[in-house]
Amino acid sequence: MSAVLAPRPAAAADPLAAIRDLVRRELAPKVIDIDTKAEYPEAFLRALGRAGGFAGAVSPGHGGNGRGLVHTIGVMEEVAKTCLSTGFLVWCQTAVARYIELSDNDAAKRAYLPRLATGELLGGTGLSNTMKSSDEIEAYRLTAERVAGGYVVNGVLPWVSNLGPGHVFVTGCPVAGEDGLAFLVVECAAPDFKLVECAHFVALDGTRTLACHFKDTFIPEARVLAHPGASAAYLRRIKPGMILAQMGMGLGLVDACAEMMRQSNRTHAHVNAFLDDQADDVESALAAARDATYALAAALDADPSADVVLDVLKLRLAGGELALRAANAALLHMGAKGYLLRSPAQRRLREAYFIAIVTPATKHLRKEIARLEARGAHPAGAAA
Ligand SMILES: Cc1cc2nc3c(=O)[nH]c(=O)nc-3n(C[C@H](O)[C@H](O)[C@H](O)COP(=O)(O)OP(=O)(O)OC[C@H]3O[C@@H](n4cnc5c(N)ncnc54)[C@H](O)[C@@H]3O)c2cc1C
Repeated sequence: MSAVLAPRPAAAADPLAAIRDLVRRELAPKVIDIDTKAEYPEAFLRALGRAGGFAGAVSPGHGGNGRGLVHTIGVMEEVAKTCLSTGFLVWCQTAVARYIELSDNDAAKRAYLPRLATGELLGGTGLSNTMKSSDEIEAYRLTAERVAGGYVVNGVLPWVSNLGPGHVFVTGCPVAGEDGLAFLVVECAAPDFKLVECAHFVALDGTRTLACHFKDTFIPEARVLAHPGASAAYLRRIKPGMILAQMGMGLGLVDACAEMMRQSNRTHAHVNAFLDDQADDVESALAAARDATYALAAALDADPSADVVLDVLKLRLAGGELALRAANAALLHMGAKGYLLRSPAQRRLREAYFIAIVTPATKHLRKEIARLEARGAHPAGAAA
């Protein structure tokens, strides 16, 4: 009797294989120009969108794949392994899509989401000032006034990335005479709105980070994601996932640093062994951070307002600290070779500081964690 062999199930397809391939072919050769010549990787971003890299942030009904933060962070991690600047742009693009997706504004969803999902439309997020002001770190830089059919906005946001003449971004600001904030989609092409070049940065200078000048800028109802009465609940929905998603930048960068340490150990293990942080230490911290990130991402994909705010803040803080530690260790392992202008080791160190200073920065996270812990860490109201 001949044995009947059951057909072997096909190996599960790697959902990020195409992204990884695109990064290797189209992003890796550009990294030095992005870093040293402030080149904005627009062609790569458009290609990444066409390959489905932003689709996790958008529901299938609006042209996405609905795989949520788990997918978004996975893509960001792959990109940030090669270039943190571009990893941050992936965060900007997917964050703005997620803000719109989590709003109740169907007109805005129809108008923007299908094009954001494919990278046909590029966008950013101008919520640093909103978050810092609502956490009592600085004053609001924008003010809105309610008028017939929408709002009129005035003020300046100094730094918003992934912008350009045809791009969009989301911001949130107080409304005169009302309690709460208005969350709005801004079209950079609006006639009463201006993008202005700002200072140059030591890293992430290829992120098209521009100042946004509002002068009686009219935002119609169709672009309002939340009015003041609904803004606390809306911020509570978008904020934990927006902060957690930044872990994609940290995981990718730390992975690349561990790889550099391993490479250096092929020839210099006998002396690298005397350094404080070893590749095993960085890799085990990375594995723990990765597990925690994807577990929290799954929880927030199931319920964006899940009671995990304190866990997200602590993980994000640890992610920034690990990025600095890993980049420092990678440079010490690589030595003078890592100090060369074309070496990724010195670039990674400059990039790592961005993870620690972009909102919510290390000091902001520590302030919020202390506040929540002092009041008994009741996370239900924490993100508002
Ligand atoms: C490369 C880069 C990209 C960024 N992209 C975005 C983005 O996409 N969206 C977003 O909302 N925020 C963005 N930011 C802002 C960022 O998230 C932080 O809010 C910002 O770095 C300030 O945080 P901080 O904790 O240093 O602030 P603080 O320590 O509280 O203060 C920072 C100091 O910088 C000063 N400052 C503000 N603007 C300028 C300026 N134009 N020139 C000089 N000094 C200034 C402030 O007055 C203050 O004294 C970006 C910042 C950088 C460096």
